[in-house]
Amino acid sequence: MTQANSTWRVAVVGSGPAAFYTAEALFKSGTGEVSVDLFDRLPVPFGLVRGGVAPDHQKIKGVVKVYDKIAANPGFRFFGNICLGRDLQVEDLNQHYHQVVYAFGCESDSKLGIDGEDLAGVYAATDFVGWYNSHPDHRHHQFDLQNAKRVALIGNGNVAMDVARILLASPDELAKTDIAEHSLETLRKSTVEEVILLGRRGPAQAAFSPKEIAEIAELPNVDVVVTKADATLDELSATWLEKDGARSQRRNVDFCLQQAELGEGEHQNKLRCRFLVSPTAIHGENNKLTAISVDHMKLQADDNGTPRPRATGESEEIPVDLLFKAIGYRGEPVAGVPYEERKGIVPNIDGRVVEQVDGDVRIGHYTAGWCKRGPTGLIGTNSLDAKDTVAGMLADYQDGKTLSPTKNDVAELLSERALNSVSWADWQRLDEWERKEGASRGKLRHKLTSIEELMAVIAELRTK
Ligand code: NAP
Repeated sequence: MTQANSTWRVAVVGSGPAAFYTAEALFKSGTGEVSVDLFDRLPVPFGLVRGGVAPDHQKIKGVVKVYDKIAANPGFRFFGNICLGRDLQVEDLNQHYHQVVYAFGCESDSKLGIDGEDLAGVYAATDFVGWYNSHPDHRHHQFDLQNAKRVALIGNGNVAMDVARILLASPDELAKTDIAEHSLETLRKSTVEEVILLGRRGPAQAAFSPKEIAEIAELPNVDVVVTKADATLDELSATWLEKDGARSQRRNVDFCLQQAELGEGEHQNKLRCRFLVSPTAIHGENNKLTAISVDHMKLQADDNGTPRPRATGESEEIPVDLLFKAIGYRGEPVAGVPYEERKGIVPNIDGRVVEQVDGDVRIGHYTAGWCKRGPTGLIGTNSLDAKDTVAGMLADYQDGKTLSPTKNDVAELLSERALNSVSWADWQRLDEWERKEGASRGKLRHKLTSIEELMAVIAELRTK
């Protein structure tokens, strides 16, 4: 696409849901000609939809059909394998675009900050998720599932649900998906039978979605076990649920009560949901994890009446062979982009980037998605979030509060620097290749796990 001088030019850093929804909102803004260039440091698009959503959740991954339609807009371009801070600097974007949107998500994991977190056998769920999803950053991780029976899983959000399901599901079922081959091989040798889910609040405050926990109970070889003591609400939670609880929270409580009635069940694999337990230390011998200590908690109302966990003074040591921390993603700083250390996000006011918290707005710079608001919400949440950011961008554009680009097409700069960027057409060819290669192996898609391999196949496909 050649760009007329009158074109409203926007660069989006990232190509996950927030980036695509930003592009969509820009195309729908009804403001003359708009061009949107998406940059991704990986050669492949879709962020956590490709590298985060579990391989047995293909329906959720199907959202890429929406992104394909957005990419079909004549104003859309993709520049994969281009990393901000390495190949391009913020100053380069300033010279080529009227506006820049940071939508690079949160790529790291939160830390517990307790003793023993570095022991062998203690893993970040985010690494496990990237590993089974063939994310190039996580290909070298190793998970010692062959010598473990009992796993502690800290946190009870939907990432914890994904980790529990992949650990407990039948590898034969996973084999039909697009799961990484190295992961399937390891999972086939796994001896894990029991996952203990440790939630620091009660069942009414569990972070999992009702559908996600129910899906685990429906697995043919797994019992979801909740004790009656754990399933029964304390008085404060019962009142709070009645008054302020969401429908999903009531469903979670009902689910736990139902499971408590079922008892231990008869299947070999168990997901044990524990509540009101907060980790205090991880123990090991010879640098290898052996157990986790937890404080028992009770809920107390804060000033707004919201139940908050407080230690009761009782504690417990739980022997475990492995431990996964699923306590949330965290954003890392990116070169030249303001960073709010406390929250791990790009500091902003309603999507307008500020130099620092309470600092000046950086004209022409915006943010959307997890790096704007933190790592919460479902894929669709990013659509509303992007629309809000684009509303501010549009208002600023109409007020003339934009950058003043002096150069026309970033493609020229990339070629001057001899950078091998991946276009949307390249991706479409790779996408087809991955599907065909997958079909020949009896699975949905075969994903390569290294940037070198991906670039080699892309280069070969260009010659055909
Ligand atoms: P999350 O939903 O925020 O869950 C994090 C969990 O970690 C919570 O249970 C939290 O407890 C706990 N936690 C945090 N710090 C802790 C600490 N220091 N000690 C003990 N527990 C701690 O995050 P997530 O699971 O990473 O998911 C991120 C977002 O992606 C969520 O919005 C999720 O719904 C979404 N997602 C959706 C799907 C799906 O729909 N299939 C799949 C994966 C992810 P508290 O609640 O007490 O803070």
